[in-house]
Amino acid sequence: MTAPAIGQSRPVPVSVSEVLPWLVGVVLFGLLLYYFIGIDEGATSVFGNTMVVHEFVHDARHFLGFPCH
Ligand SMILES: [Zn+2]
Repeated sequence: MTAPAIGQSRPVPVSVSEVLPWLVGVVLFGLLLYYFIGIDEGATSVFGNTMVVHEFVHDARHFLGFPCH
């Protein structure tokens, strides 16, 4: 097997079993981010009425267009 010449590339085969844990992890992390930035507030807050998470992500919430106050 020879190395590809400069400027050429070859696709690397990756099996589903190798990718699946990363895919699941990225989806779960994305859902957590989505929840804490967009939804975690008031009665749905994981940490109760402390508003710590809400205040921490407040600017991101407004920047992304989630309703806030
Ligand atoms: Zn706000």
